[in-house]
Amino acid sequence: MAELFPYSLRKNQKEIMQEITDALTQRKQFAFESGTGSGKTICVLAAALTFALENNKKIIYTTRTNAQQQQVILELRAIKKKAKDKRIYGVGMQGRGNMCLLAREDPEIQNGSSEELSKFCSHQKKLAVSGKSKGCSYYRSYLGDKDRVETIMAWAQKHIPTAEEFIDACEKQKICPYEINKLIVHDALVVVIPYVYVFDKAIRIKLFDWLSISEEDVILVVDEAHNLPDYLRELFSAELSIWMLNSCLLEADHFGNPSLADGRVTVAAFCKELIDVVNDLRDTYVYGMLEGGIRRINHEKNDALIPSHELEIELLSRLKITSKTLKDIVSDLLAYGEKIQEYKQKDGKLPRSYLHKLGLFLGFWITIELDQYIKLVLDAGEGKNPRVEAYCLDPSIGTDILKQVHCSIHMSGTLEPLDEYRDSLNLPLETRLAVYQSPFPPENRKIFFVRDVTTRYDELMKDKTIMPQMWRHVSGICNTFKKNTMVFFPSFNTLSMFRKNGHFAEIQRCLYVEEQHMSQSELMELVTDFKSCGDGNGDGAALFSVMGGRISEGMDFPAEQLEIAVIIGIPYPKPTARQRGLQNYYDQKFGKGWEYTVQGPAARKILQAIGRLIRNENDRGVAVILDKRAPRFHQYIKDMRESRDLLSDISSFMKQ
Ligand code: SF4
Repeated sequence: MAELFPYSLRKNQKEIMQEITDALTQRKQFAFESGTGSGKTICVLAAALTFALENNKKIIYTTRTNAQQQQVILELRAIKKKAKDKRIYGVGMQGRGNMCLLAREDPEIQNGSSEELSKFCSHQKKLAVSGKSKGCSYYRSYLGDKDRVETIMAWAQKHIPTAEEFIDACEKQKICPYEINKLIVHDALVVVIPYVYVFDKAIRIKLFDWLSISEEDVILVVDEAHNLPDYLRELFSAELSIWMLNSCLLEADHFGNPSLADGRVTVAAFCKELIDVVNDLRDTYVYGMLEGGIRRINHEKNDALIPSHELEIELLSRLKITSKTLKDIVSDLLAYGEKIQEYKQKDGKLPRSYLHKLGLFLGFWITIELDQYIKLVLDAGEGKNPRVEAYCLDPSIGTDILKQVHCSIHMSGTLEPLDEYRDSLNLPLETRLAVYQSPFPPENRKIFFVRDVTTRYDELMKDKTIMPQMWRHVSGICNTFKKNTMVFFPSFNTLSMFRKNGHFAEIQRCLYVEEQHMSQSELMELVTDFKSCGDGNGDGAALFSVMGGRISEGMDFPAEQLEIAVIIGIPYPKPTARQRGLQNYYDQKFGKGWEYTVQGPAARKILQAIGRLIRNENDRGVAVILDKRAPRFHQYIKDMRESRDLLSDISSFMKQ
C-alpha cells in the first residue's frame, strides 16, 4: 500500500486504508464517512489497487456526476507516477450522450435516452459498414485506421486522460471516442464511470461484457455515496405527464392514428381519455373534492397519493373495456412504438417514440409491486402539466449487484447515520461502518447558530418579524466582512422570495446568484468569478446558492475562496405526499421514519454546505446556522455553539 500512496500521510489515512484492506480480504462491505477534503479518494485507490494487483481484480469506481470523475483520474495519475507500474492504468467513461461525436453535433440526439442512443448508434454503424459515404464517419475512421486507434490507445495508457481530455483528443483525430473507450476498458485496471453504468441492469450487462470479467472479480467503489439511495429511487420510479400524452397524440396523428386491441379504440381516443383521467385525478386528490359545486384549491398542496388501481379502473370504466383489453392495448402501443422507432432510425433521426414510452409506462404501472412503490398524482408545472408517478420507496431493489461483486466500498463526507445507509440499501448487517473525524485542526473552523430566527413554516406565518430579522443577519454578515461569503438557502423558492422582496439590493458587495436552470458552463463561470474575488483581488464577494445543489455538494473553495458560510434555516424536505409516503415506509420497515427520511437528509445537506469551508489543514472558516432548531443536529455537528452577537463572534474568530 505504502508503495502506491503518493503523498505524505495525513491523520486517519493509514487507518482508512487498513480498514479497506481488511474489508477486501474478508469480502465484507465497507461504508465510511470522512470529512470533505480529507483525502478519501487517494486512500481508496491506493488500498484497492494494491489488492487488485495482488489478486487479479478490477476496480469499478462510480461517481454521481461526470465532474467528480476528474479528481479520481488525477489521483490515479499521481499513483502511477509514484509506482511506475505499467499495470496501473485507468479510464474515465461517460454516457454516449457525451461521448458520441455525432450526438455532440445535434442537441436533439444528445438528449436521447441511453436506449435511444444505443439504437441510433447501431444503425449509424451498420450504415458505415455497408456504404462508403453513409452512416457515422467517426466509426468509419475507427474501423479503417487501426494505426490511429492504436496510437490513441497507447497515449491514453500512458497519460490516463480524463474523459473530457480523451473525447477532445478523439475529436481532433475525427474518430469515435466511445468505441475506442470500449477497447481501453477491457485492459484497464480502474474504470471510472457514472452510477448508471452499474445500477441500470441493461447498461451494466454491456459494461461487464466490455470488461470481460465476472462480478466476483470486481471491487466496486461508490463515491459520494450519500446520493445513492435517492439516485436509485429516481432510477426505478416512472411518471406519465400530460405533456407526454400530448406528444403521443401528435405522434399518433403523424402516423395515421392507428387503432388498438383489434379496433376497440384508436390511439388518439385512448390518449385523450387518459388525459381526462389524469386531470380528474389531479382535481380530486390534489385540489380536493367539490363542495357544493365549488372546488377549493389548496395552493400549498401539489401532490397526493392515489388509490393503487384507480387510474386503471377509471380507464376500464370510461372506455368500457376489460383488463385483458388494456393489456392488449399496452402490447399494441409497444409494437407501434417499435415500428415508429425503426422508421425514425432509418431516417437518420433519434429513434424516439412516445407511444413506445407510453406502452412501457402502462405495462410497468399495472404490474408494479405495491409494497415497494406508491402511486401519486402531481400538479406539476403550475397546473399546466399534471402527471401520475409510480414512486419507488425502496432503493434496495437496485442493489443486488453490491452482493455479487467481490466487495463494495461506499464513502462520503456526510454518510451519517450509517445504519440508515446500510439498511436503505439492504447491505448485510455485518457491513463494516466507520466515521473518521476531520483531520484538520478543529480551531480552524467555528460553527455558530442563533435562536432568534427559524424557517419553520408555522412560526413564519405567525410571527412576521422573523424574516426581516433573518435578512438582517444575512446582510449584516455580507456587508461587514470583506471575505468571500456563501449564503445557502433551503430551496430556490426561498431564494427567490428574498429576491422578490427587493432585499438583494441591500448587499453592498459584489453579489453572485445561482439560478436554478443555469447550464453547467454558466454555473462554472459564475463560480470562477466568485472565487477570483477571494483570491486576494479586492473585498471579497457574496454568492447566494442553495443547499443540496451543485455548488454545495461538489465544488471546492480552498483558502480565501470561501471564508464564511451562512445556512438559512433547516433544509427539511417539504411535507409532500411523496415525502410522507417515504417516511411511513421507513417507519414500517425500520421504525425510524423521521430519523431516516427527514433528520438524516437535512443533516447531510447542512454538513455538505459547511464542508465547502475547509479543504486542507491551512484553511480557516466560519459557518453560521440561522435557525433555532440547529441544536437538534448536535450529534452530527458537535462543535456548534450558540451566538448571541453574531457579528462580534465572527469578528473575534477572524482576528485570531
Ligand atoms: Fe456516435 Fe461513435 Fe456511435 Fe458514431 S460510432 S454514432 S460517434 S457512438
